[in-house]
Amino acid sequence: VITGPCSIETEEQIRAVVAHCVENDIKMMRGGVFKPRSSPYAFRGLGLDGLKLWHEIASEAGIKIVTEVMQTSQIEEMYPYVDVYQVGARNSQNFNLLDELGKVDKAVMIKRGISGTIEELLQSAEYVFSGGNEKLILCERGIRTYERASRNTLDLNAIPILKAKSHLPVIVDPSHGIGIRAYVPQMALAGVMSGADGIIYESHAVPEKAYSDGQQTLDFAQSARLASWIRESFAMRKGFDLL
Ligand code: PEP
Ligand code: MN
Repeated sequence: VITGPCSIETEEQIRAVVAHCVENDIKMMRGGVFKPRSSPYAFRGLGLDGLKLWHEIASEAGIKIVTEVMQTSQIEEMYPYVDVYQVGARNSQNFNLLDELGKVDKAVMIKRGISGTIEELLQSAEYVFSGGNEKLILCERGIRTYERASRNTLDLNAIPILKAKSHLPVIVDPSHGIGIRAYVPQMALAGVMSGADGIIYESHAVPEKAYSDGQQTLDFAQSARLASWIRESFAMRKGFDLL
């Protein structure tokens, strides 16, 4: 289970999410400090200073950090403060970035491209792998289809296919996948049942006040419930011996 806000916003917000993670035995926290926004006028993140502050607070609590790297020049400066470099959907085929991440000895989580095929996601992973970095995680986060009723179309078909075609851990992001807060829990659990190795979702103390993606972000009560349902579902899936 990985949770946290879409964007890292303030010290108070970081402390609140870290405390939420600790209380619910969630060991990894997500959050963006470099945000790829559709509009250049939207909040674009606190940058490296935000990451340093986050790292200080999270490491004290024993919480690991998953955060997006947007360009090659950020890899080195972020290095001391991240546990997992996230490659965002919009950078899924940024081959320069993938090449450079291949030289790093830290985990890389690659999100599927907005219009990316399963094969293209695997090839993106191959870029990192061929550079010598085998610490890879694949993430299904929904693709763009003709459907407009949800933000994206969460392709759970991809999970068993990715699991069959590679040895890599595969996780599901139901928050970006459906984009509607009320439906995040069921898609998260569907992700578990589809064979995923983990779930990453957005949470915030007051989602309505989040700087980004509030509409798909769970509050802490919802997140606490979901985290325990996810664990129960993993246990149940093992019982089924489904995969
Ligand atoms: C995010 O995880 O907040 C994010 C920007 O995701 P994606 O790259 O999948 O849109
Ligand atoms: Mn987001």
